Amino acid sequence: MAGLDPQDWEDLRAQGHRMLDAMIDNIRDVAAGPVWQPMPPALRAGFATAPLPVEGRDLGELHARFVEAVQPYSVGNRHPRFMGWVHGGGTAQGMLADMLAAGLNANLGGRNHAPVDVERMVIRWAAEMFGFPDTTTGLLVTGSSMANFIAILTASRAVAGGAALRQAGVGGRRLVGYAARTAHGCVARAFDMAGLGMQALRRVPTGRDHRMDLAALGHMLAEDRAAGFEPFMVIGTAGTVDTGSVDPLNELADLAQAEKLWFHVDGAFGALARLSAQHAPLVQGMERADSLAFDFHKWAQVPYDAGCVLVRDPGAQAAAFAQALDYLAREDRGLAAHAPWFCDLGPDLSRGFRALKVWFALEGFGTHRLGEVVARSCAVARHLAARVSRTPCLELLAPVTLNIVCFRLVVADGQDLDRLNAELVKDLHESGIAAPSTTRINGQLAIRAAMVNHRTTEQDADIMLDALLDLAQLRLGVAPQACSPTPVG
Ligand SMILES: *Cc1c(COP(=O)(O)O)cnc(C)c1O
Repeated sequence: MAGLDPQDWEDLRAQGHRMLDAMIDNIRDVAAGPVWQPMPPALRAGFATAPLPVEGRDLGELHARFVEAVQPYSVGNRHPRFMGWVHGGGTAQGMLADMLAAGLNANLGGRNHAPVDVERMVIRWAAEMFGFPDTTTGLLVTGSSMANFIAILTASRAVAGGAALRQAGVGGRRLVGYAARTAHGCVARAFDMAGLGMQALRRVPTGRDHRMDLAALGHMLAEDRAAGFEPFMVIGTAGTVDTGSVDPLNELADLAQAEKLWFHVDGAFGALARLSAQHAPLVQGMERADSLAFDFHKWAQVPYDAGCVLVRDPGAQAAAFAQALDYLAREDRGLAAHAPWFCDLGPDLSRGFRALKVWFALEGFGTHRLGEVVARSCAVARHLAARVSRTPCLELLAPVTLNIVCFRLVVADGQDLDRLNAELVKDLHESGIAAPSTTRINGQLAIRAAMVNHRTTEQDADIMLDALLDLAQLRLGVAPQACSPTPVG
């Protein structure tokens, strides 16, 4: 038998239909099961000790193993009561698009084929969605971590003499950039990976509203310049991971212009607020950025993974990444035509067809409906925040700007509230009822509920909070005092 194609295509077709039907049912019924359940140790050990297979195995048997040992113990982000971190819920339609993309097995590093045109279309649409000009360049990547990294490399090379920097490296240069203390950890890691060093990312304090303190930024810039550093970029966040706050983007755009700095926005999830007419004003100024990082796999519900970087200056991204290589020559016709190639815009040469599932999401749902998903999430967050505020034993720890609610249970005397709230979140996870996560706000441990999933409703927020209060009663032995909400009105 030559090659790896199935011996009997009709067998494969039947097995494929069984797998497809099983997964469609599984997605349809996801809300009926637990959000999350721990993987039994025996199953985990099965993976930890499985020997490298020498002989092959039937696809149906492999599928059975998936259904038994993987599917029930997945992270749970498809479930409407998954409220941890920032995870998109995915869609059945997205799954089908991903199947088509895998079937085509296209490599989007470059060359002359239709999938490249699909990614170009998706990038052009993304530019329009976020108010960027149609000459914007961009790239689909794994996620915002990679998108921020590409933007930071592009910025340093655009501002600080890219050709020399690319040849000689940053050694000896004292390039520095600025982001609020609330910036995502991937920004500091990008400075690290870019060879700039994490200290080159100056962390600007935030005000009581959890937004970057512009006066502090001004002082830091002046001090750095006086000390001989070379400031090259400022990074604003549209939707911080802790609280969903938005840095003052218009003011940052003004400052970047005056100080001749590259203005980058990390809009991993928050950028999508622009699709909701009601929420777009919150991220105003984002459209003035030199570059933008955001995810399709969070609020736009595209299945993992799908991040995106956009760069306004049409030459900057290629100037930062393109190489001339004999084995990657661009031609005027034939399969090696159709420059520029996506491999010129980032670190990856071989790249999958992420663009297909993004296309199907944007055209299948339309930006209007995706904007409604954003607005729904924010409405659920407001509902939860209102209930927290009306419940004396609960305390809201940060203002709710978009879709994230940070709060905690407060009980009288002697309790270690950080520990109590952290334990309650673990209790909730293990109950399977809901899955918020935690963070620290002004030094205090917060229960953090992020509404990102298109399936989440006000009722889900209520079920989460009811379960939390029940678990608190179990843990404390008595009902925490003052936990009935004061009536509305
Ligand atoms: C999620 C997130 C990131 C990282 O994005 P990934 O897609 O997980 O790589 C960066 N910044 C913010 C604000 C985020 O919420």
